Amino acid sequence: MLSVSRLSPLPLARSTLDRATERRVNPAWVDARWFDPRCRVLVVMDGKAPVDPSGTALVYTSPSRLGEVGLAEAEHYLLGLDGDGVPYFVVPAGPVPDDQTRGEIDEATVLAAVGADRLVSVRDAGHLLSDRDAGVFVHATALVNWHANHPRCSRCGAATAPSHGGHVRECPECRAQHFPRTDPAIIVLVTDDQDRCLLGRQRSWPAKRFSTLAGFVEPGEPLEHAVAREVREETGIEIVDPVYAGSQPWPFPSSLMLGFFARAVTTQIKVDEEEIAEARWFSRAQLAEAVRTAELLLPGRASIARALIESWYGDELSD
Ligand SMILES: [Zn+2]
Repeated sequence: MLSVSRLSPLPLARSTLDRATERRVNPAWVDARWFDPRCRVLVVMDGKAPVDPSGTALVYTSPSRLGEVGLAEAEHYLLGLDGDGVPYFVVPAGPVPDDQTRGEIDEATVLAAVGADRLVSVRDAGHLLSDRDAGVFVHATALVNWHANHPRCSRCGAATAPSHGGHVRECPECRAQHFPRTDPAIIVLVTDDQDRCLLGRQRSWPAKRFSTLAGFVEPGEPLEHAVAREVREETGIEIVDPVYAGSQPWPFPSSLMLGFFARAVTTQIKVDEEEIAEARWFSRAQLAEAVRTAELLLPGRASIARALIESWYGDELSD
């Protein structure tokens, strides 16, 4: 029997803000939050945001400060309110082709404007942040990516404009409303009868990087079928009993990772060659030794893959 524990808390599945989904439909209410003197703004540039010197806290700024550095006209999207009613917004910065609504500004200017000395990505730093900041950063990254990639109406091609605090884009021509897109992807730790785990290396990854198997869910496909299909396609292994283990957003640009454990009923690996360069079974001792000798590089600490592997291993693995 496969021993399974729910993965909790996952590093990017933490958030504390109230998204105010019912109130943000009112533009006057959103404007009043923007002009609240307590308003905190996260500037996101190329998927990165400013952090303090410790790297454990985001650095926020204010709408008035943004005005001083030429970002007053940039779009802003409401992320939510904290327990004291303090509003949090994200402002996308940086050159965005074909979209003049965003502020064109360089990294040094962003850092000077907010009083920080570096920018980091969710992928690199999400696990180091507080619950509030992790949630803010993930939400902000996903939303900014969606707006940047969807400036036009998918029905008629007209330029769209944000509404609902940035959680809808509306078409002025055909009146269509477009909602932020989230792409479900399964990610699975497969074990065999000897309780070894199956890890693979994608062709596009750096040498020695191994991880759990993953792939997008197709239209009309249940999650359990996606798990079995991806494992079969990538490694030739047949699985049974996929068990849901938890989820976290992976906003690069718009994935929601749905984690599973599954049991293999075959062990003969045959990689698909196109996507996967290599796949191997690891016992706990083999994995620990491969990590210790740097023969194998684990996925990053912010990833659900790392959580799946460490859950199976039974302890943290140091890089
Ligand atoms: Zn349209």
